[in-house]
Amino acid sequence: MSQTELTILERIPMGVDACLLRLERPDWEWQPGQLIGIQGKSDLDQRDYTIASGTRDETLDVLYRLIPHGILTPYLDGKQPRDRLEVVGPYGRFTLRDPTAPLLFCATGTGIAPCRAYYRSFRSLKMTLMHGVRTPEDLYFQDQWEGIRYMPFCSRTPFRGAKGRLTDALHDLPLESGLHVYLCGGNEMIYEAEDILLSRGVSQDHIYHEPYYYRAYDA
Ligand SMILES: Cc1cc2nc3c(=O)[nH]c(=O)nc-3n(C[C@H](O)[C@H](O)[C@H](O)COP(=O)(O)OP(=O)(O)OC[C@H]3O[C@@H](n4cnc5c(N)ncnc54)[C@H](O)[C@@H]3O)c2cc1C
Repeated sequence: MSQTELTILERIPMGVDACLLRLERPDWEWQPGQLIGIQGKSDLDQRDYTIASGTRDETLDVLYRLIPHGILTPYLDGKQPRDRLEVVGPYGRFTLRDPTAPLLFCATGTGIAPCRAYYRSFRSLKMTLMHGVRTPEDLYFQDQWEGIRYMPFCSRTPFRGAKGRLTDALHDLPLESGLHVYLCGGNEMIYEAEDILLSRGVSQDHIYHEPYYYRAYDA
């Protein structure tokens, strides 16, 4: 694992309260699904962020949502292009085990970041992506999923007929045999989705999770 300073090249506002930060690419390699730690005013303020860009991309991107009462995201929100961030990485094991397997990726909110890393790093994934958010503005990267099955879910406002929670749709979703499932975002969605998938016969060995935070599930 390396520690370095990376320059912010660009900030792209996303949805209601999120931002895609494009950082200069470090001289280390990473696996799609791995993380960096970004430090705030002190190294005690370090938080994890999935690398949201592909391994062939020219920048290292992270997608964060502003948590107004949080520690690191208000600090990140005050940063501008040309500012530098103290970063450690890469680490983490939420990597794609078998890119040739049929894949189901379930994300809430910014939990879509590793899916973008997989999608931009591997060609021809056989993937269904279910993304659960509150409002259509938070369907980050919604026009960038060509070639995979993309299923958006908005819990508060209907979007192209899609309303409700992704976990409700999991009960009826056709599941291929040999399916590998990746669950990322809030803990409640992850636990609920896992229970449904296990009850529907998906192997525990083929379910992988990356919880970002722990609280009641409302997206
Ligand atoms: C393995 C891992 C990977 C992560 N990758 C990402 C990522 O790519 N993008 C990203 O935005 N976050 C990611 N997170 C969450 C991130 O590390 C921070 O916790 C988050 O950005 C909030 O930081 P903060 O210091 O502002 O707030 P904190 O002081 O850490 O948290 C304040 C409160 O907000 C809650 N919270 C944290 N994140 C959210 C959220 N998204 N929605 C609602 N409540 C939340 C926390 O549980 C806590 O109760 C990841 C977490 C882990 C464990």
